[in-house]
Amino acid sequence: MVVANLRTSRIEISKQALANNIAVTMQTSHAKHMFLAVKANGYGHGLLTMAQAAVELGVYGLAVAVVDEGLALRQAGITIPIMILGYTEPQYAEILVQNNLIVNVVSLDWLNQAQGFLTGVAPLQASLAVDSGMNRLGMRNETEVLESIDFMSNHRNLFNWVGIMTHFATADSSDVAYFNKQLHRFNVIIKQLPYLPEMIHVANSGAAMYHADEVPTDYIRVGTVVYGWEPSGMELADGKNLKPAMNIKSALSYVKQLPSGEGISYSHIYETTENEWIGTVPLGYGDGIDRELTGYKILVGHEWCPIIGKIAMDQLMVKLPYQMPVGTEVTILGSNGSENIDIWDVAHYCHLEPWEFTNRLTERLPRILVD
Ligand SMILES: *Cc1c(COP(=O)(O)O)cnc(C)c1O
Repeated sequence: MVVANLRTSRIEISKQALANNIAVTMQTSHAKHMFLAVKANGYGHGLLTMAQAAVELGVYGLAVAVVDEGLALRQAGITIPIMILGYTEPQYAEILVQNNLIVNVVSLDWLNQAQGFLTGVAPLQASLAVDSGMNRLGMRNETEVLESIDFMSNHRNLFNWVGIMTHFATADSSDVAYFNKQLHRFNVIIKQLPYLPEMIHVANSGAAMYHADEVPTDYIRVGTVVYGWEPSGMELADGKNLKPAMNIKSALSYVKQLPSGEGISYSHIYETTENEWIGTVPLGYGDGIDRELTGYKILVGHEWCPIIGKIAMDQLMVKLPYQMPVGTEVTILGSNGSENIDIWDVAHYCHLEPWEFTNRLTERLPRILVD
């Protein structure tokens, strides 16, 4: 998709907010090394924008979901460690080696298959995935883990065992029973291993923020909390020490006064009932602005103005309190300097979680690192 740089609509990512959230996370979790999750276009914040911010802020490494995301980062010149969290097809194992990407090994069978694709020019950096109860990917018993370690030690030219991980399904919940069960299963396996790799990485945002005293945190893998979102949705903390990093900005492209009885946008679901000032904003569902935001109040300058009528693919209309000039700044998310539009409000208004809302924002909006 084309990035619309020659338009006012844009996503601003606050580096200061990210720096604050990273500091809070490192402090709360006592972590030594952070892998920042930048998968899925940096949770919508922009893959390269987030990678650039991470490098500038001294983050240890990045975590992505798929090989192509790792390759895009390497091609952009990012040299810090990169870990792939999702499933990689074994036939791409040598591409991982060539690009210095850490793989998530999901089974002994995976190692067996990958072996056939590796040249031995350099070993593949392998992190073993233990499924302790997320029930998504990974080895479910110590036998398979032990056999995988054996397999790698018998093929040292092909595999370098760098890490072992598990992933928690409920680390952000006040009900800790299932978390404890997962942690116990993981610890039982860890205790039976002949030796341990450098990285034992288990903490996502929830575990890093709420279970730092129970889990290993030398290495953490976090996304949510660094983007500025309280992982439990304010159930376990008020999140006031976190700052959402994303602001969505635009500017009025057209302003007019309409008499009573005029319909606005497709299907005319809104009709003027008096003389009304109407502003047009060059943003629509083609940018990922959810159509359920009709009726939601956004900021035009310092005025709260409702979105009226159906949101179109590329544009939406707002009701202005009075005539305002074309070019007036519009804030759809985040701060205009004094007022703030909260991500939780916006997302919940569309029946989404913050990470779902931002994930839907499309490539067309430029992602710009500010402050
Ligand atoms: C996405 C992901 C993370 C980061 O999770 P957050 O809750 O956003 O911190 C960590 N580990 C794995 C395996 C993931 O898929």
